[in-house]
Amino acid sequence: MTTAYTGGCRCGAVRYECSAEPMFPGNCYCRQCQKASGSGHVSAFAVPREALTITGEVKYFDHKADNGNTASNGFCPTCGAPVLGKSSGMPGLMAIKAASLDDPSWFKPGMNIFTESAQPWDPMDPDLPKFEGMPEL
Ligand SMILES: [Zn+2]
Ligand SMILES: [Zn+2]
Repeated sequence: MTTAYTGGCRCGAVRYECSAEPMFPGNCYCRQCQKASGSGHVSAFAVPREALTITGEVKYFDHKADNGNTASNGFCPTCGAPVLGKSSGMPGLMAIKAASLDDPSWFKPGMNIFTESAQPWDPMDPDLPKFEGMPEL
């Protein structure tokens, strides 16, 4: 991808711009993502931190992941929309929640992760590789 893509929260207070190729695009079915989204999974991808320009205040909610890393869900403090994510295990990367894109239609998930906590009412694309937990990236 050579053209920049943009996105943000629901109310528009948080905006971002990025031109980096999406890395590790996937759907996460872990309980943290379910709680954060209010749905069965979160679709997201990673980009190098320096390739991402963020404007507006992002609030981060930290939780300890099973592997000991601190995973942080970045959301807009005004509208609560989940926009970004980061992990202490991958300090050079930021995650972008696919639904926060201005045009989410180009996102192509390449894997389903944490499928052990997937809900029966949120069926998966059977053609995607499945990982019960976090794969080695
Ligand atoms: Zn907002
Ligand atoms: Zn998750």
